[in-house]
Amino acid sequence: MAANVPQITLQSELSDSEDDSLVDGLSAREMIGKENGLTYNDFIILPGYIDFPTDQVELASRLTKKITLKSPLVSSPMDTVTEADMAIAMALCGGIGIIHHNCSLTYQANEVMKVKKYKHGFIHDPVVLSPNHTVSDVFAVKKEHGFCGVPITENGRLGGKLVGIVTSRDIDFLEDKDLTNIKLESIMTKLENLVTAHSGVTLTEANDILEKSKKGKLPIINNQGNLIALISRTDLKKARSYPLSSKDDNKQLIVGAAIGTREEDKQRLAALVQAGVDVVVLDSSQGYSIYQIKMIKFIKKTYPNLEVIAGNVVTRQQASTLIKAGADGLRVGMGSGSICITQEVMAVGRPQATAVFKVSDFAKKHGVPVIADGGIQSIGHIIKALSLGASTVMMGSLLAGTSEAPGEYFFSDGVRLKKYRGMGSIEAMDRKDATGSAMNRYFHSDMDKLKVAQGVSGSIVDKGSVLRFVPYLLCGIRHGCQDIGVNSLELLRSRMYLGQVRFELRSHSAQLEGNVHSLFSYEKRLF
Ligand code: GDP
Ligand code: GDP
Ligand code: 5GP
Repeated sequence: MAANVPQITLQSELSDSEDDSLVDGLSAREMIGKENGLTYNDFIILPGYIDFPTDQVELASRLTKKITLKSPLVSSPMDTVTEADMAIAMALCGGIGIIHHNCSLTYQANEVMKVKKYKHGFIHDPVVLSPNHTVSDVFAVKKEHGFCGVPITENGRLGGKLVGIVTSRDIDFLEDKDLTNIKLESIMTKLENLVTAHSGVTLTEANDILEKSKKGKLPIINNQGNLIALISRTDLKKARSYPLSSKDDNKQLIVGAAIGTREEDKQRLAALVQAGVDVVVLDSSQGYSIYQIKMIKFIKKTYPNLEVIAGNVVTRQQASTLIKAGADGLRVGMGSGSICITQEVMAVGRPQATAVFKVSDFAKKHGVPVIADGGIQSIGHIIKALSLGASTVMMGSLLAGTSEAPGEYFFSDGVRLKKYRGMGSIEAMDRKDATGSAMNRYFHSDMDKLKVAQGVSGSIVDKGSVLRFVPYLLCGIRHGCQDIGVNSLELLRSRMYLGQVRFELRSHSAQLEGNVHSLFSYEKRLF
């Protein structure tokens, strides 16, 4: 706790003679109560007293009743945002990723498994070839992925018996004409000459082995000699530690997964639990339904240790029902997402700042944390969501376009982009292996043969790696907390409820003033 913070005297505590009170602005309750339907841009937070440095700001926050994260950030279960790579990066940075379910049950469970099995520095799904592949196949790997250290197994797949390895030095001097004629078995370094390590090897041990062998790659095999992973010297050299990483009791990264509320989702859930999922998110745009209540009860009875996040909700009534059914966390937001057209098409939803305050205010009485989902465009929005009572924020667009988001980059007018689309967009609902999951979120009945989109499909600019972007977000949140005068998110929430964090509404011109203005041109570099 910050020491000696001068306390603001509330208006009600002042006598008439003290009209020149130092209290400014509004409490969150006054602000939200006064106006109908506020969004993050409609208000600003007034500065507080600083008596601590930013690196002392504690960002730990609860995701669910039982899971606490060191960073209050969650990646959204969307098929252009969260698969294993994103979930791993989010967990390494102290947050969590929720794997989307717009795919087959096996695919989703496998993504969960990749996160649970992740060991820093180990490549768990290396590109593998067979002895019958040719040198041109290795060049094709190099062209597509940028590396050419390829382990060779009997069947050409991960899990097959390791028989050799091909690296750049094996193919450097081969001429074009040879490429399709030369089989890898004739140029690979064969098993008898390979230095390998067994599963269970630690990164430090692997480091020692590579140092002694002077090789660039270390294949990892199990007792049967089957390939299970690969270690690359380049990764060991740049290995960083991630002190914030979100881990379970077995020191494995934690991960969430989204499911629907249909009968067949129980099968999906069983596969996810088998794969080791830590928390499930019931993915519905309107969670106040009999289906969701039944599903929460089913999960709590069948898997009492599994945490369940229910939603989405935007009203106290919705929240109350799901909390009673047993929800361990609530996802708040309807129609605020960047790709979302729900409010326009369905005329139902709620402006996000109001939704976050109303639901958090109610849920805190039951000890249930709230995720502010959708509409987060900047660090400022994250701080505003947290200052209205949310424990964590869920992001789609802010994390789309990073190298860990699913999908390939492409260029348009010289700009490097990635696809980002709403899960209720026609395109997402038409995904071939979707097995109806996106459809389930947005269509509640098989009678809905004609699709009405609730989202759009678009593209988003390259943001680089999450491993750089999320630390930037965290640093910004710390600075925001410092300006508000709170050295932890817990203190931010408690002071907000005490009316000690002060807010002010912004007119349209105040919002314009708060952005860059009066310049002919400018460059906006964020970090
Ligand atoms: P190489 O010697 O050409 O294989 O390349 P490096 O080992 O110098 O760099 C390869 C980089 O790609 C490392 O950071 C790896 O972690 C990464 N990588 C990701 N997937 C794979 C994979 O399937 N095989 C290999 N060899 N590297 C991978
Ligand atoms: P680089 O990525 O090209 O620097 O490859 P490495 O340093 O991994 O391998 C150099 C040469 O050693 C290649 O011809 C490999 O096939 C061969 N080699 C021999 N034994 C081993 C071994 O135990 N592991 C690896 N990775 N390569 C080996
Ligand atoms: P963003 O961070 O991009 O503003 O919003 C992401 C959130 O929008 C997701 O977490 C999800 O709640 C919501 N969402 C995702 N796809 C759709 C969609 O197609 N329609 C609607 N209404 N909401 C969506």
